Amino acid sequence: MKKTTTRLADGRELIYYDGDVRPGGAAAPVREAVDRRPLEPVSTHSELREDRLLGDTVAIASHRQGRTYHPPADECPLCPSREGRLSEIPDSDYEVVVFENRFPSFAGGAGRCEVVCFTSDHDASFADLTEDRARLVLDTWTDRTLDLSRLPGVVQVFAFENRGKEIGVTLGHPHGQIYGYPFVTPRTSLMLGTLAAHRERTGRNLFDDVLADETAKGAVDGSRVVLAAEHWVAFVPHAAHWPYEVHLFPRRRVPDLIALDEDARAEFPRVYLELLRRFDRIFGPDQPPTPYISGWHQAPFGIPERRDFALHLELFTIRRTSGKLKYLAGSESGMGAFINDVPPEAAAQRLREVAST
Ligand SMILES: [Zn+2]
Repeated sequence: MKKTTTRLADGRELIYYDGDVRPGGAAAPVREAVDRRPLEPVSTHSELREDRLLGDTVAIASHRQGRTYHPPADECPLCPSREGRLSEIPDSDYEVVVFENRFPSFAGGAGRCEVVCFTSDHDASFADLTEDRARLVLDTWTDRTLDLSRLPGVVQVFAFENRGKEIGVTLGHPHGQIYGYPFVTPRTSLMLGTLAAHRERTGRNLFDDVLADETAKGAVDGSRVVLAAEHWVAFVPHAAHWPYEVHLFPRRRVPDLIALDEDARAEFPRVYLELLRRFDRIFGPDQPPTPYISGWHQAPFGIPERRDFALHLELFTIRRTSGKLKYLAGSESGMGAFINDVPPEAAAQRLREVAST
């Protein structure tokens, strides 16, 4: 992987990631295009406030109200630049590129928000990528985790993708985001709490026990396992919150992407692309692409519990049946108490039925 770091006209960092494998064995391209847009320096007004009753942190980011909202395809800021239409990416092509978000939720030394473009092809989606490109994205997520771990204001790194306008995606170009949070997020805090309680009660690691229980049943039929590969296993959790939800774990427990070994890295593209392709088939061939959220759960930095944490990916859709979305209504939004209309075993069954042949 070749990494080229540059700055955009307003001072934000932009990094090209180019893979080692290219047609005809050609050398990696030289990335020296300059951002020629007359951009004002970025001004952000992000403020972290602690909720006194819940004890969690809310980022108040008023500058985000002005962010780009569903631009037409010929004004996409994530397509490569061409003459007469300059975008966020100065070069005329790219493989994978990362840059600091112009409308960050966190900024100013307390956290960092980045955008990752998976391909220069505006009309593709992650599931369309080649295995080589998916591997380059995995290596990019890993490198960003390492770089952000070295920033003093970053405690936890979350690499995620929102796909589909139903999820609230404001740009159609295939991309994801990376948040370097300046605090431990509420869901991770909850997990660390249950992890510690389980360790106290049983002397064992909760992630290890969950993985063993989910995979112990032998035959895939009747269990919630969706895909069992040599180094990864994917299952619908026992108490899934979302209509179709899959958790993907490396079989060897590691705290974060940085610690993932080469065997797991090499196998990841095939496993993950297959899961995404199955997601698009859940509701049948005449349905629009399945909206989803996919994100890496990684251990926070600099805490002793980190050695107990298990890196994993959570993938879920808010679509519950053709043409119908699961809304976070009163019980979920008001109380955080989820009600799921799709039994996890039925979801797992469906996700096995739509496997690639
Ligand atoms: Zn585009």
